Amino acid sequence: MKIICIGRNYLEHAKEMHSPVPAEPIFFLKPDTAIIKDNQPFYYPDFSKEIHHEVELVIKINKTGKNIDTQFAHKYYDEIGIGIDFTARDIQAKCKEKGLPWEKAKAFDGSAPIGKFIDKKKFADQNNINFQLSINGKSVQKGNTKDLLFNFDTLIAYISKFFTLKTGDLIYTGTPEGVGPVAIGDKLQASIENEILLSFEIK
Ligand code: ZN
Repeated sequence: MKIICIGRNYLEHAKEMHSPVPAEPIFFLKPDTAIIKDNQPFYYPDFSKEIHHEVELVIKINKTGKNIDTQFAHKYYDEIGIGIDFTARDIQAKCKEKGLPWEKAKAFDGSAPIGKFIDKKKFADQNNINFQLSINGKSVQKGNTKDLLFNFDTLIAYISKFFTLKTGDLIYTGTPEGVGPVAIGDKLQASIENEILLSFEIK
């Protein structure tokens, strides 16, 4: 399986990063070794001093598709979950400065914790899903899908022009504003509509 992550998909996050607002989706990949499941801890890597949290809704692809039309994109996923796109912000800043790829900053082992998934039918309106991240009991990021620059169906259509999507592939759909550092000992909890779906510790 592969993990596709969308960059700058919420206006306020693009602004806080002082990055231009994209005219079409920006994406990058993580390998399957980035995944952390079952609320296992994240081990702070020694190559960075500035690991940032980015909480994101995640869609799980349920069948193979290529060149998917936007109007049929909803048939390619049944479940929505929540995950963290951990980012070594110090390394990413250097990559950006030099125009280098972001993989070192984004795709390292453990950089994609993923929680439980929910049947998408549970959401009355997919363009109005609330999600949030708290650290040590304090809310640090809050998002709502109404603020997405590119919604789920648009992302699936766009990505599938370049990559064949396959069963089990995950799309991290972008983070809202409020990204910031994590530290060893922090306890992270991510929820959709107040249901905690991901809970783990930084070690
Ligand atoms: Zn992200």
